[in-house]
Amino acid sequence: MSDTVTRALATALVLLLLAACGLTPRPSMDTREADTFEDDVRAARTLGEQFWAQQFQQLGGTYRPIEAFIPYAGESGPSCGGQPSVPENAFYCPRGHFIAYDQQWMESLWNAMGDGSVYVIVPHELGHAVQAQLSTGFALNVQAELQADCYAGGTLSALVGSGALRAEEGDEDELFLSLEAAGDPTDNWLDPAAHGTAEQRQASFVKGYREGVGAC
Ligand SMILES: [Zn+2]
Repeated sequence: MSDTVTRALATALVLLLLAACGLTPRPSMDTREADTFEDDVRAARTLGEQFWAQQFQQLGGTYRPIEAFIPYAGESGPSCGGQPSVPENAFYCPRGHFIAYDQQWMESLWNAMGDGSVYVIVPHELGHAVQAQLSTGFALNVQAELQADCYAGGTLSALVGSGALRAEEGDEDELFLSLEAAGDPTDNWLDPAAHGTAEQRQASFVKGYREGVGAC
């Protein structure tokens, strides 16, 4: 595992360049081979929320499913607390308790990087929905972002562990690359200060993946 992760970290940048040229294979994480983009998006939400419902239940709580899961195009996304959505993004909105995503943008990541992109971005946003329910307050936005990455890693490893998803060679690279592409409307995802550096994000994701969401 550690060798794989190290290699993934070292080759992430190279793979990103290859992905941009469409040269990387697209390993599938979906054990049911239900492999349209829409299937993967739906599964990432459904499986992610099932996971969190179980987690909350084990702790004597009740997970509140998101109110809506909204695909949008370009500039036409829903606003959140008066703030307009932006193209090429996915976000969780606490006011309204919904997740929205630029469908074309996410599908282009799915095409370029494989379905792992969807299985990182959606669980990351669900992680913010969980933070809202746990009233997790952070002094810095980056702390919330890194915890959401950790939650996404923990969600993914649990789904792989339960057999709902499978990890194949190449999937970890795919997942790490996807971390760098995920963002929020409240900040510029290219700004290292907003979501943490690529290294911090990968470390957070790996921590969750190895140790589970309880370690986040
Ligand atoms: Zn985020």
